[in-house]
Amino acid sequence: MLVIENLTKVYDNGFRALNNLSLEIPDGQFVAIIGLSGSGKSTLLRCINRLIEPTEGRIIWNGLDITAATDDELRAIRRRIGMIFQQFNLVKRSSVLTNVMSGRLGYVNPVYSLLNYFPGKERERAMAALERVGIADKATNRASALSGGQQQRVGIARALMQDPELMLADEPVASLDPATSHSVMKYLQLLNEEDGITILCSLHFLSLARAYSDRVIALKDGQLEFDGPPQDIDEDRFKMIYGEDAVQVEIH
Ligand code: ADP
Ligand code: MG
Repeated sequence: MLVIENLTKVYDNGFRALNNLSLEIPDGQFVAIIGLSGSGKSTLLRCINRLIEPTEGRIIWNGLDITAATDDELRAIRRRIGMIFQQFNLVKRSSVLTNVMSGRLGYVNPVYSLLNYFPGKERERAMAALERVGIADKATNRASALSGGQQQRVGIARALMQDPELMLADEPVASLDPATSHSVMKYLQLLNEEDGITILCSLHFLSLARAYSDRVIALKDGQLEFDGPPQDIDEDRFKMIYGEDAVQVEIH
């Protein structure tokens, strides 16, 4: 269970990106985070693993206060939280397999990673992760040789190496075309359903949130505008979240 209590983030310039946000997310949920650009989605996701330091409030995960964690505790917490980025964040000139193995850096002896040496069992784990996202045959390719959708699947495989209980995905499909977006979302769905990994995924399109999530959290100006099942977002709610002039774009 992830509990967010009165979370506030005020950036150094005084901008209040999150304002007193409280949420409870049970294990195993697939949660979509939606909202206009600038509504605070990335700030929320990054506060959870403290890539951004919250200004006020608490984040408690499995009874542990992430916001009060020591460096050692934080390292241990981050090992169990995978992160997926819009721009994939792969080392483009390295092989797919090396990129995936780097997901284990929180676990393996740091000397190995300096030498770019990973024990055989790490390779096996990486191959198994690539198989789960359907691209084991690309293991020896350079990451740069892969399509966007394939690169994001490498990003998912890399996150899987951490054996995560929670996956934070920040607009994982915003750089992809609609058909490819679905192929990536389906892998997140698979990990949620088969491994019980809790997924928090910010999304641009409500239609994707409808297709994949159990629950939608909508942010507006850093505050909770909606929290409920996707089917409860009718035309009026949609306009409250996205503004009067917004039109729904379905992607198929
Ligand atoms: P979203 O991911 O929903 O687009 P963000 O969380 O990235 O929103 O940003 C929320 C707001 O905080 C935006 O108005 C953004 O300009 C502002 N913001 C983000 N990062 C910083 C920063 N480092 N300093 C000041 N303002 C920031
Ligand atoms: Mg963002």
